[in-house]
Amino acid sequence: MIERAAYIGGCDGVAVILSAELIETDPMGTMPHALILILGDTVEAIKAFDEVIDKKVKRVALIDTFNDEKFEAIRVAEAMKGRLYAVRLDTPASRRGNFYRIFEEVRWELDLRGFKDVKLFASGGLDEKEVMELKPLVDAFGVGTCISNAPVVDFAMDIMEIQGKPMAKRGKWSGAKDILRCRKCGNDKIAPLKGVPKQEIGNKKCACGGNYQGLLQPLIHKGKVVRKLPKPKALREHVVKQLGNVSLLPVK
Ligand SMILES: [Zn+2]
Repeated sequence: MIERAAYIGGCDGVAVILSAELIETDPMGTMPHALILILGDTVEAIKAFDEVIDKKVKRVALIDTFNDEKFEAIRVAEAMKGRLYAVRLDTPASRRGNFYRIFEEVRWELDLRGFKDVKLFASGGLDEKEVMELKPLVDAFGVGTCISNAPVVDFAMDIMEIQGKPMAKRGKWSGAKDILRCRKCGNDKIAPLKGVPKQEIGNKKCACGGNYQGLLQPLIHKGKVVRKLPKPKALREHVVKQLGNVSLLPVK
């Protein structure tokens, strides 16, 4: 379920085979460190990978296992003779120093030798701050922990009205409500559920000129799911379309 949510939230793909089946896509991933450790050399590992793995899987070499990333990047790029799609740096923070500078150096050395097409992948405990810092240089990111253990969204479930009469504790706005969202700019506002007929909600204009739409719709009625949910791919497209309105920076 985490991978499904990550995919719907905008990630390009997932690694677990079962999760990929659930969202009706092909799983994606790169060679593991285990392969390099067993074969004893990065170049031998990418050559073995290239020899046996389905051609539709992109050739991405992990270059942080035994030696310096710059020299390993050059070695695998030269050995693969134009068939290398990307190099991946999964360097642990304890060995990293300045991750951006390491990528900058690897990019320079690859470009200088004619490997401008070889992309750079980053992974290893990355959070949204690091992704933003590395974005000018890095083509793709592998993010695990920061998604699977994302900060919680704080919420509480409170009584808002009793038998149709507004009633809530101190600090809470009483009465049942609807959430209205402008589909053009993403602005949300809260309106009392009563006194705003559904047909009028669609006519309410946002300052940007877009129309507000009521978001609350029944999902489960008498224990049965009553709404037909779109496929994960369609949900993802819907989310990605709206992400332009969302800032990664904390809201003050
Ligand atoms: Zn708007």
